[in-house]
Amino acid sequence: MHELPITESIVRICCEEAEKYNVKKVNEIKIKVGELSGLVPECLQSYFDIVSKDTIIEGAKLNIIKIPVTMECTECNAKFELLKSQGNCCEVCGSTKLKIVNGNEYYIDSMEVDEDGN
Ligand SMILES: [Zn+2]
Repeated sequence: MHELPITESIVRICCEEAEKYNVKKVNEIKIKVGELSGLVPECLQSYFDIVSKDTIIEGAKLNIIKIPVTMECTECNAKFELLKSQGNCCEVCGSTKLKIVNGNEYYIDSMEVDEDGN
């Protein structure tokens, strides 16, 4: 249940950006979410609808794009996408000494807006 604080920070950042650029209405917010982040898109949208109420971004739709998990082998430095079928081995040398490069993160990618006509 860590979606709420994350949603609050997304709303805060988007409001600041919308104000900075004199945006009239925000139609869609694109958010990239790592598969390991554990964030549930449906939860984000329902929290978003609550948190964004009475703000400039109220009514915006979240477009949540999942980012695959990338691993790096500490033995041979190969980087590859982690597939569930392959287990936790390096696809190049077979080592199990892997570290996660990304997959935990989330960030706001872009906003689709109606700009002020003036
Ligand atoms: Zn390797």
